[in-house]
Amino acid sequence: MGENSKHEIISFKVVDMKQNYNDLTLSEEEMRKLGYKAIDILIDHISTLKDKPVTRSKSRNELELIFRENIPEQGMDSDELLQLVQTHLLSNIMHIDHPRFLGFISSPSNFISILGDLFTSAFNFFAGTWIESSSAAQIELVVLDWMKKFFHFPTQAGGIFLSGGSMANLVALVVARTNKYDSDSNRIPKFYYSTQTHSSVDRALRILGFSEKHIEKIPVDTNFNIQLSQLEQQIQQDVRQNCVPVCIIANAGTTNTGTVDPIVKMVEIAKNYNVWLHVDGAYGLAAILDPNEKNKFTGLGKADSITFDPHKWWFQPYEISGLLVRDAHQLRDTFHILPEYLKDLDREFEEINFCDYGPQLTRNFRALKFWLSLKYFGINEFRKAVQKGISNAKFVEKMITEQFNKEFKIISPAKLAIICFRYYDENLSNEILNSINKEVVQEMIKQQWAMISSTTLHEIVCLRFCTINPRTTDMDLLTTLNRIINIGRELVKKYM
Ligand SMILES: *Cc1c(COP(=O)(O)O)cnc(C)c1O
Repeated sequence: MGENSKHEIISFKVVDMKQNYNDLTLSEEEMRKLGYKAIDILIDHISTLKDKPVTRSKSRNELELIFRENIPEQGMDSDELLQLVQTHLLSNIMHIDHPRFLGFISSPSNFISILGDLFTSAFNFFAGTWIESSSAAQIELVVLDWMKKFFHFPTQAGGIFLSGGSMANLVALVVARTNKYDSDSNRIPKFYYSTQTHSSVDRALRILGFSEKHIEKIPVDTNFNIQLSQLEQQIQQDVRQNCVPVCIIANAGTTNTGTVDPIVKMVEIAKNYNVWLHVDGAYGLAAILDPNEKNKFTGLGKADSITFDPHKWWFQPYEISGLLVRDAHQLRDTFHILPEYLKDLDREFEEINFCDYGPQLTRNFRALKFWLSLKYFGINEFRKAVQKGISNAKFVEKMITEQFNKEFKIISPAKLAIICFRYYDENLSNEILNSINKEVVQEMIKQQWAMISSTTLHEIVCLRFCTINPRTTDMDLLTTLNRIINIGRELVKKYM
């Protein structure tokens, strides 16, 4: 209603109005007191993180004793509650943002983005539709456009921020299927990717109702790249057998070794056979920021869709991933549905309702933290942070080849901040070395000094460092290598 419209005053009788508006509400004073305390806890944590043990955890039994109770009938004093949180909750986790967390893939976030998440919750943006959060939708569009530029995607491309790389891969595969497969067909649809591809792709296909007969896992060469000739042969064979090649997935940085598949060639193959090409860059795509690494991603701009994961190497707290699709309409046509109770929302196409671009209606404003941190630091700081991660892995490689080459053997050299190597002793069999390397990881976890993880490459169990935390120092890496050597030596004695 405009301001000039006439209001008719309707009189009504007050019937027993209860004045209990304070349910679930705190006074302004209490909010400030608690809020400042909480901020103090966060900042104390961040500033002392590097001195904390990395790998704390407790057993299920211990935690049952601490947290198991009936649902509380009465509330608890806020000081006691904060105390409980500090002593038992915040201290029984692995610190994945610790400078010596070198296992799996860490998430070294940043304070500005943490504040972003605070705003996200406090204002509770409804980022599903334009009219409910227009500025939020505009910012999401702007950040997606920034990413499009980085990845050389055309202007008509569209995208959305989702919860993680797993979800982005799932949504990409839904779009691929919609565009390349007629669901009424009784021909068998096929998906192709290397054996080094992340398990989230397997899971996404399972969710979509596909099984082994729809999946062709293509072997890799000695450098863990997909074997193109095998990929092409498989597609040709499937075409001859009247199957429908639907999608090829290229890795832009595998989780195991940081390997980038030959994207240009895969794009070519996809074009030749009219197949969707999805690039899974959840781990590695941030490396495109580094001018020395950029060439690895040539051809990216010709893909049909791309997954990238700001909550990994773009320094954002969980959860945020990004999906870009070559033509925004392909994404929208896959998800757009307009039920009668949402008709008020169907406005001009330019006013984007992000609920039409993915599976969620109610969704939070994930783009905010990413936007705030890019605005605050500028992309150059991100570039430097990514480069630091890459040089960390190179430093480990250099130390191993120049100083520790008797006791370590490199299995996959430093690639996009991932290096795989094993504790080695020439007198021991591969089987025993496999056991020793697994035990090294367990012992490192016990010592709480650093987190490392293992993986298996061509039947060789090895240690894997993922060094994307820009706060990791050379000393952190050296002391960790030293500890591994000491543990390895003890274990060798056991097996000799
Ligand atoms: C981590 C990862 C994923 C899954 O992403 P989540 O954010 O953990 O869901 C997918 N692909 C690759 C290559 C990854 O490294």
